[in-house]
Amino acid sequence: MSSDTCRIAGCDQPLHVRVRGLCRKHYDAEWRAGKIPSGQAATENDPSLPVGECEQCGAEFPMKREWQRFCGPLCQRRAKALLRYSLMLAESPEQRAERLAKKAERARSRWLDSQKEAQL
Ligand SMILES: [Zn+2]
Ligand SMILES: [Zn+2]
Repeated sequence: MSSDTCRIAGCDQPLHVRVRGLCRKHYDAEWRAGKIPSGQAATENDPSLPVGECEQCGAEFPMKREWQRFCGPLCQRRAKALLRYSLMLAESPEQRAERLAKKAERARSRWLDSQKEAQL
């Protein structure tokens, strides 16, 4: 069996979902049987869409855009937060001090504003 056909014995259909090694028909069958973790209804949405694998949770999803990397906005947000966190870990002590100073300054001006309002 070549690697470009379905891995189910006796089936020589071309691959539909490479990460699963399944043709369209067998992928649909596994998906319906609940064997495929999916953030969204991968094939019921639009069977003509290529299936991508979410970089965040590994779920399979219909790729509505060629550059789509995540199954949904939740995973996109999570990935963004992780990226921000890793940038935070990578920053130098000076960058960190500067960021915290700016944050403190913002909090202080907010506090001053609220004091002003309280006096009115
Ligand atoms: Zn098949
Ligand atoms: Zn995901």
